[in-house]
Amino acid sequence: SDHHLEYPAEPKLMDWTRHYPQYYPAKEGEEQKKVEFADIGCGYGGLLIALAPVFPDKLMVGMEIRTKVEDYVYERIKALRVQKPGNYQNVSIMRMNAMKFLPNFFEKAQLSKIFFLFPDPHFKQRKHKARIISNTLLAEYAYALRVGGILYTITDVKDLHIWMVKHLDEHPLFEKLTDEECENDPAVPHVRTATEEGKKVERNQGDKYLACYRRIEDPYYN
Ligand code: SAM
Repeated sequence: SDHHLEYPAEPKLMDWTRHYPQYYPAKEGEEQKKVEFADIGCGYGGLLIALAPVFPDKLMVGMEIRTKVEDYVYERIKALRVQKPGNYQNVSIMRMNAMKFLPNFFEKAQLSKIFFLFPDPHFKQRKHKARIISNTLLAEYAYALRVGGILYTITDVKDLHIWMVKHLDEHPLFEKLTDEECENDPAVPHVRTATEEGKKVERNQGDKYLACYRRIEDPYYN
């Protein structure tokens, strides 16, 4: 159950100071930087650690439901901040159930990237409602993502890939990136190789299915 998970009633009540002490609160006269990248079900944090130096001026957060995994990533980031002073100040981890509380953390259009890397497949038909990509949840992701922002998915489970692509294709607020656009995206190489699950798939010589979507403008409100 989620009763022991802490979450703000609305995004403006969220205190990010603990996560990004170098950036919160903003210095006088400067605009407050906000989290722009969310790695949903981040696991052991490989993507965040890889992206931190690639996008040093973007704040990014991993969201993970397992306490032990959150603790591990927390310690990992803490150690990196000590080893390389001034670096990794832009990454953090929080424990949360991303299927329930995302709108409590992010304002409309706050995010420019949202990642779903090797999400749990929930193979059985009756468990499909537990999948992290669904019509209902896509509405939440579309709300949090700004126009032009990118949603990344990758999996080694072909059936899940087909499922995610189907739901994203059907959704009016997402448009698929072409293969060329994916190849030119600086985050994509890390999406393929940086996470622990991605490395495991590589060791087992499994396939990886990538699909990236752009948040487009709402056709009804323009
Ligand atoms: N993305 C990581 C990677 O590529 O190595 C981890 C992949 S792992 C197969 C899926 C992760 O999603 C697990 O760590 C799991 O605890 C987490 N997870 C599952 N449901 C979640 C939810 N509702 N909210 C947040 N995290 C969740």
